[in-house]
Amino acid sequence: MEDEGNHGNDDTRCFILSTLAAHNSPRVVCLLCSSTLPVYDRYPLVDGTFFLSPRQHSKHCFEAKYEGKTQYLSVVCMDCLEGTAPNRRIKCRFCATPWDGSSLVLGTMYSYDIFAAQACCTERYKCNNCQKSLASSFQKMPFYSDYSHDIMCSQCTVQDFHFVKSLAFCFARDIP
Ligand SMILES: [Zn+2]
Ligand SMILES: [Zn+2]
Ligand SMILES: [Zn+2]
Repeated sequence: MEDEGNHGNDDTRCFILSTLAAHNSPRVVCLLCSSTLPVYDRYPLVDGTFFLSPRQHSKHCFEAKYEGKTQYLSVVCMDCLEGTAPNRRIKCRFCATPWDGSSLVLGTMYSYDIFAAQACCTERYKCNNCQKSLASSFQKMPFYSDYSHDIMCSQCTVQDFHFVKSLAFCFARDIP
């Protein structure tokens, strides 16, 4: 699959800084551990990574328009991405695969949902409405960002961001 992130790009930097300014927030909050992170006006912008999701994963994700669509600017801190602290790890509730964000570029922004882009098992590909598998549609998708788009379920015809599921639904803390 292709990673079409615009890492280190000036438009991305301006988008993040103007979104934070519009919400009067010089800081952001990690989705997974709720720690507060400062945002810098130069790269690396944050000690973690920003990403956009069509779903608001927490109240700390900021609504913004990106390429004409409503998205939520979200953040995961470096410790949670790398899973270095043992109590920071999360795993899939269905297949127990640990989520691993260590390959993501730090300090920049992904324009898609980083959790949806790394689905581990068939539970993650089920329709949010009828719960039937959307496997035949996902096999054709060439880009990570394709998993963040709304698609129509071929079984029940409901259109939704079927692969962008709530974190509480997909993940549990991996407590050793
Ligand atoms: Zn964190
Ligand atoms: Zn899984
Ligand atoms: Zn369906």
